[in-house]
Amino acid sequence: MALLDRFGRVHDYLRVSVTDRCDLRCAYCMPEEGIDWRDSTELLTFEEIERVVSIFVQQGVRKVRLTGGEPLIRPELPTLVAMLRKLPGLETIAITTNATHLARDASSLKRAGLDKITVSLDTLHPARFAAITHRDRFAEVWRGIEAAIAEGFLPLKLNVVLMARVNDDEVLDFVRLSCERPIIVRFIEFMPFKENGWSTTKLISYRDLLQQISREFTLQPVESSSRSDVAKEYTVNGGLGRIGFITSMTEDFCSTCNRMRLTADGAIKSCLHDGAEFSIRDLMRSGATQVEIENVIRRSLAGKQERHAGIDELYQIENRTMIQIGG
Ligand code: SF4
Repeated sequence: MALLDRFGRVHDYLRVSVTDRCDLRCAYCMPEEGIDWRDSTELLTFEEIERVVSIFVQQGVRKVRLTGGEPLIRPELPTLVAMLRKLPGLETIAITTNATHLARDASSLKRAGLDKITVSLDTLHPARFAAITHRDRFAEVWRGIEAAIAEGFLPLKLNVVLMARVNDDEVLDFVRLSCERPIIVRFIEFMPFKENGWSTTKLISYRDLLQQISREFTLQPVESSSRSDVAKEYTVNGGLGRIGFITSMTEDFCSTCNRMRLTADGAIKSCLHDGAEFSIRDLMRSGATQVEIENVIRRSLAGKQERHAGIDELYQIENRTMIQIGG
């Protein structure tokens, strides 16, 4: 039976976090001193991830996105991609990465059967990169982007978390980038998570952004290929470029949500902005049957809310930090 919730939404997309660790320290994602990392024994093994994903695929999941922390710091990640690639019924395997290790891994990920790459990059200035991430690694990130393009991961998606007075003066540069390279630039509205310094004054709304960009470029809306696409996409200057807007704060897309999440330590979450979760790691390690695991997945889905809480309440919700969920 498809993974249907009580609002009629079909869940065919699973985001799988493979680690809570990262080699960058983006201020809006985790504190500079880091977090209380999970011990490696607490993380799902590749075999456990494969088993859970296979159960989800049997329930209708067709797309898996590997996330983190930073997924490429989990050793041998192409091996996991190759394991998942063998699962009948799984159509798309994607990854979201900060690209610091992408130059090293792009070709082995391609050989393993990875389909799509999304890179998280919030600035085109090396000095500002160091300020936002507390690491001076812009050059490696850019080499990673070039390697992914060279390997044919096209178009490459670039996610930019826009924050007022941090990187909002680079909007037009990012739009120009989408015109010059095979890159779809997606602007993400800044989301509140525990201790990430969020405030409404830092939020730049989709509508304001659209107005700003339309003063310099000709934008044409693009019909989205799937009802559940989170980005509102536009061609730029007649197709020279392509940009998107992920508007979860000002125009949420919960009514067409098709996503569930598996955290690195084996918890099932039916919503990014809801603290509710069900652990299946210990269940699996105590010999749970497939049916028992399916029941946990369905219980998680049964509790899914129609939409995330209002913008003023979100910050108060007891939930994991972004790095412990994987976006
Ligand atoms: S907030 Fe929750 S329900 Fe809304 S789109 Fe995100 S995951 Fe889906």
